[in-house]
Amino acid sequence: MVVKEKKFLDDSVISFDRKHRATLHHNISKYDEAVVRGKSRYTRFADARKYASDVKEAALSGLADNLLLFEKKATENGTRVLWASDGRDALMHIRKIFEENGVKQVVKSKSMITEEIHLNEYCDTLGIEAVETDLGEFIVQTAGEKPYHILTPAMHKSKEDVARLFHEKFGTNPQATPADITAFVRDRLRKIFAGADAGITGANFLVADVGGVALTENEGNGLMTLSFPKVHIAIAGIERVIPSVRQLPFFWQWLGVHGTGQAISAYNSLVCGPKSPQESDGPEKMYVILLDNGRSKLLKYGEEWQALKCIRCGACLNACPVYKSVGGYTYGSVYTGPIGSVLTPFYSGFKEFGHLSDACTVCGRCSEVCPVKIPLHELLLLNRKRKVEETGEKTLWKLGMATFGYVFSSRRRLDLVNGRWKRRLAKLNRHILGEHKEFPRFADQSFSQRWISEHGKVPGHLSATNPASKYQ
Ligand code: SF4
Repeated sequence: MVVKEKKFLDDSVISFDRKHRATLHHNISKYDEAVVRGKSRYTRFADARKYASDVKEAALSGLADNLLLFEKKATENGTRVLWASDGRDALMHIRKIFEENGVKQVVKSKSMITEEIHLNEYCDTLGIEAVETDLGEFIVQTAGEKPYHILTPAMHKSKEDVARLFHEKFGTNPQATPADITAFVRDRLRKIFAGADAGITGANFLVADVGGVALTENEGNGLMTLSFPKVHIAIAGIERVIPSVRQLPFFWQWLGVHGTGQAISAYNSLVCGPKSPQESDGPEKMYVILLDNGRSKLLKYGEEWQALKCIRCGACLNACPVYKSVGGYTYGSVYTGPIGSVLTPFYSGFKEFGHLSDACTVCGRCSEVCPVKIPLHELLLLNRKRKVEETGEKTLWKLGMATFGYVFSSRRRLDLVNGRWKRRLAKLNRHILGEHKEFPRFADQSFSQRWISEHGKVPGHLSATNPASKYQ
């Protein structure tokens, strides 16, 4: 079994941690309530969803043109646009920017793409401190952990967990309230902002016709990250482009509604280049790194390209019964939940991450809630197929399925052994239901055996013309 797959099975025992589960369910339920309220503001919800999907589809079908337009406009605005084919390329660009600008201290706002390229670890190797400034990210960074959820990095922690953590690390009051913690972090970060040489952000959207980077957030830390230091670096996946600034107000609101239930997040910035000579605030230099890292390859697939429409709202994670059971860390990947299980094998390999789609129950909730109409559960089924095509089936699995097919295609064969033996045989593979679930009890006699023993013959309606009769 591949290491990552084994880790998934081992780590999924978190499902049996009642406290963890209660915290997760509590936090997700708060989002669920808010999102229902948020969606109710749209009187033509289905039309709005279709519009969102259509715009993203059009943006992707003209991806090359949109990106070239973005590059042209951004360059005219004074931004340096850099292309990175993979994470390593992106890190090389960042290193060069650090060297050219004498960067020693970095502040970061929340961005999953910097997790994708392992930026913090890379900064460590350069001896440069990269401080997270989003409260949730700051909490997980303080705990020495990774983001647990693509939108809410510290979703797995209760307010008591955070108070305890800050007491241990910073000596704050162990009974600190969320307001106390926020005030403490704000005070601490202000000093760091003032001394930072570079600010690194992601991009919620790249707006092609104005060459701008659009960011939406609730804490204002993103705005400070890009405006306080003299250098701003925005890292964006190439799929983040939308053609026109006219589409931006809709998407800011659409993302807010599906992410947190807000009509719109508190701070929304469209950054079109470094500060001009007439402006007193803003970075002196701005760079945008456009990261491919498997995206253009994914775009070529018949159905799977649709995953690139994702706007990272997190709704599919909150709706997924698997995510709600095993939690964010079990996946062992940067992107988690249904969208993570679809994307990660394309970004990091089917051999290591193809098993993620096997965990799906195919309930379809993720596809139902997705604001850009990505048929996630169907893509997960395609990933299962692709995994088998790319990595082959395990011999034991093939043998097991062949035996299953042979036995279950004949009622007589199925009834060769009694209930107790069926139970023993089913338990030969301990992963069928996992180690923590009781296997259902097989009846000692099957229904047809009981019928025949009580009535002495096959029921009349199961006649020779009835296909069921072949099983008798
Ligand atoms: S796949 Fe859809 S629901 Fe999931 S994060 Fe992306 S946009 Fe949101």
